[in-house]
Amino acid sequence: MKVGLIRCEIVADFCPASSCLSSMKNKTGAFEGVDEEVELVGIMTCGGCPGKKVASKVRSLIAKGADTIVLSSCISKGYPVGKAFPCPTAEEIKKAVTATAKKCGNAKGVEVRIVDWTH
Ligand code: SF4
Repeated sequence: MKVGLIRCEIVADFCPASSCLSSMKNKTGAFEGVDEEVELVGIMTCGGCPGKKVASKVRSLIAKGADTIVLSSCISKGYPVGKAFPCPTAEEIKKAVTATAKKCGNAKGVEVRIVDWTH
């Protein structure tokens, strides 16, 4: 699994992504049960509110070899995770990510997976 990680731009200001990276390394959370090696291809942000730049980030990550686009939990669950401030446009971001990943994947003849949380 070659992961392109996308994070909330606001949270990326103060969070070093330790829990996201740990979940990949230790295969916990969204990565539990993944048999193959989890390799991190790159980390980007949504590009800032309301997330309209996210498609370009997906294109970059897939061009660099990502076969799985992962949205960090700060987007889908908020920060602190599960407690506050989930992204108000998380669903729109996920739709844009899914559509872009499908288009880029089709062009490369691969199916790009989408994972919408990390830990
Ligand atoms: S659009 Fe959502 S994920 Fe992106 S910076 Fe704003 S709150 Fe964070």
